[in-house]
Amino acid sequence: MSDDLKIYNPSPEFSAAAHVSGMEAYQALCKEAETDYEGYWARLARELISWHKPFTQVLNEENAPFFKWFEDGLLNASYNCLDRNVERGLGDKTAIIFEADGGEVTKVSYSELLAKVSQMANGLKSLGLGKGDRVVIYIAMSIDGVAAMQACARLGITHSVVFGGFSAQSLRDRIEDTGAKAVITADCQVRGGKKLPLKAIVDEALGMPGCEKIEKVLVVNRADAPVTMQAGRDVWMADVVAGQSTTCEPVWVEAEHPLFLLYTSGSTGKPKGVQHSTGGYLLHAALTTKWTFDLKADDVFWCTADIGWVTGHTYITYGPLALGGTEIVFEGVPTYPDAGRFWKMIQDHKVSIFYTAPTAIRSLIKAAEANDAVHPKSYDLSSLRILGSVGEPINPAAWEWYHQHVGGGRCPIVDTFWQTETGGHMITPLPGVTPLVPGSCTLPFPGIQFAVVDEVGNDLPWGKGGILVCKKPWPSMIRTIWGDPERFKKSYYPEDFKGKYYLAGDGAIRDEKTGYFTITGRIDDVLNVSGHRMGTMEIESALVSCTELVAEAAVVGRPDDTTGEAVVAFVVLKRPRPTGDEAKAIAKILRDHVGKEIGPIAKPKDIRFGDNLPKTRSGKIMRRLLRSIAKGEAITQDTSTLENPAILDQLSENN
Ligand code: ATP
Ligand code: MG
Repeated sequence: MSDDLKIYNPSPEFSAAAHVSGMEAYQALCKEAETDYEGYWARLARELISWHKPFTQVLNEENAPFFKWFEDGLLNASYNCLDRNVERGLGDKTAIIFEADGGEVTKVSYSELLAKVSQMANGLKSLGLGKGDRVVIYIAMSIDGVAAMQACARLGITHSVVFGGFSAQSLRDRIEDTGAKAVITADCQVRGGKKLPLKAIVDEALGMPGCEKIEKVLVVNRADAPVTMQAGRDVWMADVVAGQSTTCEPVWVEAEHPLFLLYTSGSTGKPKGVQHSTGGYLLHAALTTKWTFDLKADDVFWCTADIGWVTGHTYITYGPLALGGTEIVFEGVPTYPDAGRFWKMIQDHKVSIFYTAPTAIRSLIKAAEANDAVHPKSYDLSSLRILGSVGEPINPAAWEWYHQHVGGGRCPIVDTFWQTETGGHMITPLPGVTPLVPGSCTLPFPGIQFAVVDEVGNDLPWGKGGILVCKKPWPSMIRTIWGDPERFKKSYYPEDFKGKYYLAGDGAIRDEKTGYFTITGRIDDVLNVSGHRMGTMEIESALVSCTELVAEAAVVGRPDDTTGEAVVAFVVLKRPRPTGDEAKAIAKILRDHVGKEIGPIAKPKDIRFGDNLPKTRSGKIMRRLLRSIAKGEAITQDTSTLENPAILDQLSENN
């Protein structure tokens, strides 16, 4: 594998100007962490965070795996993201450039955002909400959404954002699990030119058993959509905020105070309520934004994730603001009014750092190849200097396209591997440091101790695929699963590794020469065909590298009498879904292609074509459902986070 690696080096000028400049600087940081782990994190926590009361303790492992960081320090996340920037003279600097679905642009400066958040916090306080309470936020991408999270943080209220695409049932489940006292929502959200209700879904959720603790529903008016307001319970945000002071003393909380709860996207099982801290989380949010994205004073940063996902928490609400950056918040969808929307927004706002998901890239490739008008080449993207990818492995073919057509061949791509549970980047290139290899998330973030081990925790040599673990606790790690500490221990610190290693749940392999990590898929996505172990990801990448035909592919295993397991591929083509003889002919081409790319052993036994793949609402392929379909089983699993249920029937048909 090492021999034909394609490597993209950062330019010397780029490296020279970067926050972490060159491989030696990276290695020096790793060395510092190795020599004095606690000292390293303590130094950074003092440099990046303003503490109301400085911490004297760094890491407390007494009650492992319930680790504590900086526990005797006091701070406030909202103070760090807002007041501190105003005090540093950034009051007039634009904090957020908001672009609505229809294209209207609103900008807020740091002073304005601070005033807005303070008013909202005073409003929440007037309703009796405060430290120790939970508030669920169910709202679309908006300045109000970010402000609501910051207002909660200001008061020590633990927020739990639920993505606006979730159903009433999923919302109900999360409200019940968090034990929230209030919901912040809006009349509706506007996406792709359509108004979609939010408040009505909250009403439906609250009508179900389990939500009895909710006392108040605060409603932001987004677009005058009709709503029913229940007297005593429902209040307009505008009324709550009216007349409130624009200053609000932050509530200083202990570093371990839960800043938020967030449910994982559910691509492998029932969503878990991941609990994050204030101090350690904020440190890693700020630090990774600074080093991975090399954020500087005049950058325009755009993370396209929704605030309903951890990516939106860390790289919209907290990281960029903690550094005093300017960022885009976008309400709409990448394909409205057409699939050139992202490129047009990069051009209009002179975005310099762009962070999105492989699923978005793959769908935009398909659109761009069909229509020059929405191809990146039809836009001026010269403001870009760094690109990022997150959420799933990015296939080398999609990486190359992103690099060439969006990044003009000059922008480093940071392929950031991390999880809801990790709070921020874990394995990622640093743009001024790391020679890039398409499809590899390269090396651990300085200080992060990831390794590839076997089933009992022994280190594996480079070149051998195994299980991804983290050998040391880190500041922004999950603290527990809300209300279920036993599940936390079992899921993340299993006895297989004597309860010592954090189990990511992903498989990985390190390149024999470079030591670079490649994620091979979830642990349970490893296939064993006639005794050969293969990651599903490898076969998917081979399929997608057939660029004339394939837009997207997912691969799963199915028990097979002769080979143990057989490879089943679900494929979305760049042309309409084929049936009959055409499907057979294309399946043969693809089988041969995989045979040529990897070897005959990897040839899919069964290829199914669909208009799409089953995805979570965050855009991840739900392979666990595909496994059931491949086996011909009825689907009995949790599908609450599935975006497009109808696709399951189509893929179940034999074609
Ligand atoms: P659940 O844990 O509920 O099953 P999930 O794992 O999809 O859902 P997230 O926390 O949103 O929930 O996703 C983290 C996972 O996403 C990682 O474990 C990994 O499988 C995948 N992932 C994220 N970024 C990358 C990346 N850059 N490369 C490869 N895989 C990635
Ligand atoms: Mg996960």
